[in-house]
Amino acid sequence: MSVLRLSDVRKEYAGEVVALHEASLTIEPGEALVIVGPSGSGKSTLLNLMGTLDRPTSGRVEIADQATHLLADAALSQLRARWLGFVFQRSHLADRLTAADNVATGLLYAGVPRRQRRPLALEALDRVGLGHRAGHLPHELSGGEQQRVGIARALVNRPALLLADEPTGALDRATGRQVLSLFHELHAQGTTVALITHDLSVATTFSRRVEISDGRLAEVRVS
Ligand code: ADP
Repeated sequence: MSVLRLSDVRKEYAGEVVALHEASLTIEPGEALVIVGPSGSGKSTLLNLMGTLDRPTSGRVEIADQATHLLADAALSQLRARWLGFVFQRSHLADRLTAADNVATGLLYAGVPRRQRRPLALEALDRVGLGHRAGHLPHELSGGEQQRVGIARALVNRPALLLADEPTGALDRATGRQVLSLFHELHAQGTTVALITHDLSVATTFSRRVEISDGRLAEVRVS
């Protein structure tokens, strides 16, 4: 099974903007890759298509070997909740919920019964090294810790693919490096990771690198 397969995916916006030209990309279970490109190169467009948050103008997107173009929005949301975990530049935690409850919200749409949510949330917090902060509110956590809670929320449903969009972009350098190390640790433990960034110093820590420029992908294999 491939976790994600894009075949000749093209995205045009109104006004004849071609944001992505016939992109093809396959991600196998257990891989970690980075997609790197400057501002305006098409990264957000690509992430939205990989995450089934938007539909391509043409081409196919498969998640866990299932074609997505035939699915209605509700079925697509289910597929997304089942197979994908998202991490964004900011963690967007709910202010009044503890770290554990914020993580548990990652299970709401996956149909996990309430009594199972808390133990799974605590386990996910442990995986990001924050088991001891489970009862804390977001404002009691540092920026890096908040981002780790966001990563735990993305992981809690054991997604086939963790999709991260500039996850270190809002953090200072040292904290950013720690969060980046966490992605590499999670990968070493078997999580499949795709991370999108404009930051070359982040990109060079990955051995599979895909460069995007003017909406075109180029695979760079590094040993
Ligand atoms: P990045 O994330 O790398 O900055 P984007 O995917 O946001 O790049 O944008 C790629 C190109 O598509 C840019 O030229 C941008 O102006 C254009 N674009 C993005 N979103 C839209 C939209 N909704 N409508 C029209 N053009 C868009």
